Amino acid sequence: MTPKQIYDLIIIGGGPGGLTAGIYAMRAALNTVLIEKGVPGGQVTMSDEVENWPGTVHIGGAELSMQFASHAQSYGLEVLAREVTSVEPGLDVHTVRLDNGDSLKTHALVLGTGGYPRKLAIPGEDDNYGKGVSYCAVCDGFFFRNKTVVVVGGGDSATEEALYLAKLAKKVFIAHRRDALRASMLLQQRVKADCNIEVLWNTVLTAIEAEDGGVARVQLKDTVTGQQREMPTDGVFVFIGFVPNNGIVPAGVKRNTEGYVITDRRCQTAIDGIYAIGDLREKYARQIVTAAADGCTAALAAAHYVETKKAASADTCVLPE
Ligand code: NAP
Repeated sequence: MTPKQIYDLIIIGGGPGGLTAGIYAMRAALNTVLIEKGVPGGQVTMSDEVENWPGTVHIGGAELSMQFASHAQSYGLEVLAREVTSVEPGLDVHTVRLDNGDSLKTHALVLGTGGYPRKLAIPGEDDNYGKGVSYCAVCDGFFFRNKTVVVVGGGDSATEEALYLAKLAKKVFIAHRRDALRASMLLQQRVKADCNIEVLWNTVLTAIEAEDGGVARVQLKDTVTGQQREMPTDGVFVFIGFVPNNGIVPAGVKRNTEGYVITDRRCQTAIDGIYAIGDLREKYARQIVTAAADGCTAALAAAHYVETKKAASADTCVLPE
């Protein structure tokens, strides 16, 4: 497509939500491009095991991502490997600017930019990133074979990643700030049953300290008694939630206090023809299946929006004299 042409739909983000939007958009015959700066698949590609994608009891995250991408591309979905630098809503069409200076025009837009891991913001975290501090067990777990690691957090991510690390590491400690995990019961039961995992209840990290170029120990604080102590460890894996990737969300799109985009039941934002899906959107459950559901909803709503818009402008043009 030449830069002067107008797309029916631009999808930004190639996670499960964006790729599902791509599948539905292509099936609805929308002239669509999906823009993704990295590898299609999003965060799921980092997951060792996915066990809650209906119809598939067990599948690797990377494999599931590849299936999403090849499914979308089987309908001829155009995928552009670029970074979007800004989105400029217009009265008639919206503009998407890219890192190479190009800009694309579109009638409708789906924002599916996901998010990134929240940081602890304690001394030693940034300095030791890649030297013992990690936000991805599948990526870095290998380096901690037969070593001791501390996993921080009490949600699905922390427990899933701790279970993964327990297969490699000598010992896994989960440091959780409360006395109960937030994770699903199934994951809690697995953690309890794993002799290689010990939960440090009511515990937060106050500092990560290094020696000889790598993490050597953490400073811990009991959230009930205030007592402090230090513990030797080779690595720290942080899974304390998620921050929406809303840098390119244009002004005029409403967000909640945590930065998640607020939409209606069609996934439409406060701006007509602009939709938000997946982890970027304010919602109750952030799952692969709910991201995919959002992608479907947004693409169908976008198809209706684009068709209505085109029909209205066609009516204007062909009015009999
Ligand atoms: P999450 O559910 O928000 O859990 C974050 C955990 O980190 C909570 O236990 C929280 O403690 C703790 N925490 C937050 N800030 C902290 C801080 N500053 N210091 C110490 N601890 C802190 O995040 P998540 O586990 O990344 O999951 C995000 C979403 O993805 C959830 O909806 C989850 O269900 C979903 N997910 C699903 C799967 C799956 O189904 N297989 C896998 C991964 C993620 P509190 O409990 O005290 O708040």
